[in-house]
This record gives sequence, C-alpha cells and structure tokens, in this order.
Amino acid sequence: MLPQNSAPGGNDQLFRALITSAIDGIVVIDADGTVELYNESCERLFQYSPSEVLGNNIKILMPQSQRKAHEEALARYRKTGEKRIIGTGREVVGQRKDLSTFPIYVSVGEGVWNEKKIFVAIIHDLTTMKAEQAQREGATGLLAQIVRSSDDAIISKTLDGVITSWNDAAEHMFGYHADEAIGQHVTMLIPVSRHAEEGEIIFRLSAGETIRHFETIRRRKGGEELHVSLSVAPIRDAAGLIVGASKIVRDITKRKSAESDSHKLQSELGHAARLNAMGQMSAAIAHELNQPLAAMMNYVKAAQHLLSPELPKPEQIVTAREAMGKAAKQIIRAGAIIRYLREFVEKRASEKVSSDLNRAIGEAVELGLMGADSSVKVFLDLDRNMPPAMIDKIQIQQVLINLIRNGVDAMAGVAKRELTIASSSEETGCLHITICDTGPGFAPEILAKLFEPFTTTREKGMGIGLSICRAIVEAHGGSIRLLPDGNHGACFLIRLPVAAV
Ligand code: ADP
Repeated sequence: MLPQNSAPGGNDQLFRALITSAIDGIVVIDADGTVELYNESCERLFQYSPSEVLGNNIKILMPQSQRKAHEEALARYRKTGEKRIIGTGREVVGQRKDLSTFPIYVSVGEGVWNEKKIFVAIIHDLTTMKAEQAQREGATGLLAQIVRSSDDAIISKTLDGVITSWNDAAEHMFGYHADEAIGQHVTMLIPVSRHAEEGEIIFRLSAGETIRHFETIRRRKGGEELHVSLSVAPIRDAAGLIVGASKIVRDITKRKSAESDSHKLQSELGHAARLNAMGQMSAAIAHELNQPLAAMMNYVKAAQHLLSPELPKPEQIVTAREAMGKAAKQIIRAGAIIRYLREFVEKRASEKVSSDLNRAIGEAVELGLMGADSSVKVFLDLDRNMPPAMIDKIQIQQVLINLIRNGVDAMAGVAKRELTIASSSEETGCLHITICDTGPGFAPEILAKLFEPFTTTREKGMGIGLSICRAIVEAHGGSIRLLPDGNHGACFLIRLPVAAV
C-alpha cells in the first residue's frame, strides 16, 4: 500500500507500478523507524495488512531478539552518523503476524523525501534458498557420512595418480593414515609387478570409461598383498572436464582364499574319485595290459625261432623283422595304456589349456571301456571340425569315463547294448558332448537328486560320481544335464565353452 503523496519528479504512475510489482518487499521508514511505505510483496511476506503497519514502528516486522539492536543502530546513526547496515545489506530474520520467523536479506539505502530523511529497505525472502542450501548440505553431509562409514575403501586421486581423499576404511585396509596417504602417489598401494595397471586404468578413465569390479592385487603398508575388486569412475569439474578419479576398493582376500580352498578340496575329491575308479578297474586294466604283453611275447618268440638257424634264409629274416615290428607296436600300445593310467591317477593341480576335445574323448573311451563286456557296441560320432576347448583334459576324461562306465553298468541286464558318444560344436560358441546308452534309464526315485552326492542305486556305489562330474564341468564354465529320454536309456549332454582365440 502506497502513501497518497506523489512520487518525486511527478512520475506517479510509474513509481506506483514499480513498487507494486516488485517481487521483493519494499519498506520505507523515517529516521525514527516509523513505516511510511509498505508494498504488496511485504503484505505477502509478513501477513500484515498495510493499515496494521503504516504509521507503526518497523520493529513489528522483527523478532523480539532483534528489536533492541535495531533501535540502538538507529539511535547511533542519529547521534554519530555511523552506518552499519545502511548503504549495504545483511541477512536477518523477519517475523510474520503469526509470530513465525523467516530468513530475509535486507538492503538498506537512505534518501530524502518530502524534506525528511528516509530509509528504504528492500527485503528479499531467503526461505527457499535456505531450504535448498540445507538440502544440499544435508546431501553432502549424508554422502560424507556414507563415505566415512563404508566398509569399502573410497579413495580419490588426480589424473596424475596423486591421492586426494582417503576414508576410514582405506586406512584400515591399507594401514596408512589419511595424513600419510593424501598427497602421495597411488602406486604406493600397487605391487611393483602391477605398476603398469595404473597407466592402463588412467588411460581408460581419461577416455571417460568407468571400470567396474576389476579384480587385482594391492599392497598394504607392511607389504602384505590383498586381493581387491576395484571400481573406478572419472571425476569431472564444473565444465565437464575429467580431472581425477574416485575409486572404491573392496577387499576380496577372504573370498579368494575360500575359492582357492574350495578348488583344492574339489581337486582332492576328484583325485580320490579317480583313484577309486582305477581301483575298481584294476582287474580290467591288468587284463588289458596282458593282451599286448602276450602278443609281444608271441612275436618275439616267433622272431627268435626264425632267427635260430645259424644262417637263416632271407625270407625268414624278412618274417622275423615283421614280427619284431608287430611286437614294437604292441609295446607302444602297452606304453600308451600305462601313460593314460599314470596321467589319470597322478595328483596334480587343475590346469585348463586349449585342447583337442575329440582326442580327449578318444582316450577316455579307450580307458573307460577297459574290461567292458565286449557285447557293448560303441559308436563314436565326433565332429571333425571342433574348435579347441579350454579344459583340464584329465578332469574332463574323468567325467567321460564315469559316464561311460555308468552306461556300460546300466546295460548289463538288457539285450540291446549300445553306447553312442558324439561331439559337436554349436553356433553359440559351445562344444557339446553327448553320451547315450540303451539301458533301462533312471530309477524315478533318484531322478530329482541325480547330481547330488550319495545318490546311488548300486550296492557298491558311493553315489558321488555324478556330483563330481557336475562340479568339474561347472568349474569349466560348462553344464551337464540329462536329455529327455528318447523312450529308452540314459542320455547326458555336456556343454563346454570354446577356448578363446
Ligand atoms: P554310483 O555309480 O556310485 O552309484 P553315480 O553318481 O555315478 O554314483 O551314479 C548315481 C546313480 O545314478 C547310480 O547309482 C545309478 O542309479 C544312476 N545312473 C547313473 N548313470 C546311469 C545310467 N547310464 N543309466 C541308469 N542309471 C544311471
């Protein structure tokens, strides 16, 4: 509400429009603090109508706590001319009619109107800005709290690799206090053999890439190594330029050691199972070895006989040479059986290498069928264009031998005994092996838990063969399952990944 006096210069309408449409509150007081002008925005801010304010002291718009200071400031000004708020502005608190308070920024200018000294106060409501600021500070505080309480080390660094922040978990994980770490180069956390990794990480970050769950090794203050999983993201400045990186480091040492324990256990179990299988096959193996040995003996004896005359005839020499050649072949055959067996029972760490799967299948079939009923017809249907597989050959052969011998055992009581072993490579980048027999198929009571340990229907069975098969195949990143029975028999499908080129 404006006083009815005309505006200086007589441009009354423009003056009125200015005051009325101003977004900020405008109050004019005289030297005693009496309100002479109180615009529409003030009505909205302070809830008082103009009639309640005009002619009253401006103190009505202030909380009690500020009134005394205001009076003193005015009195000082009148007495000494000392200006504090006048000519500048400051943040103070306004009070509404309902006595609630709110933050305002008041800028005060002085002038003369109708030959009287006046003060003009422009009042800007800071409520929204303060709320936003509080929200921002709250978010920043929350973030700081999250960083502080995180179990993962959270570290930031410049693009030159200089550490710029270091949370409590980093201190705990690496053993360096923040003072010892901030300002240092991040390579102090990296084993020398892996220093090149840092360059690679910075290179990828500089291209704007975020690195997720990169598993590597870092070192503590004392030099001990930690297995960690790193996630690194670029930090950008206000202009969007990458200026550094934030790093979340998770200690996965325990997980790694549990994994390695479980691998060791699995490999021990696998070895025990191979020894057990060979123990059960010992009679068959002895028999299998006997055959080349007996044949060898016959050939050697024949050669001996042919060469016994003082001057053997040329054709006797030729035949004796042929017999020696045949004996040598049998020696090679016996040697091969012994080599398969030795490899098979040897205790060794698991090692996956790029291998010819068909060859591994051929050897496993030979070993698996030792001593098998000769009435079992075996069909091999191997895809000659198989790409190499990334396998531990002995472990995969262990799986195949187990399945082959199960199939042969299962067919003991049926008339049609056929075992078909096939390999193929699929477009999906998988290698398939199927092993199918014409036995009775599975007893319904064990189907649901077929791959679980101690599932057996055999009197002397331990029921761990198929569970080991599954563990081995899964450790190769593959799978093993039963194919729906085509009316009869059991048919297993093994899928293995192709070796990366
Ligand atoms: P085990 O041979 O010691 O019993 P396995 O885990 O190798 O242990 O096999 C578990 C059970 O699965 C066997 O006892 C048998 O009942 C069944 N089984 C396995 N292979 C076949 C098969 N080819 N045909 C029918 N049953 C099978």
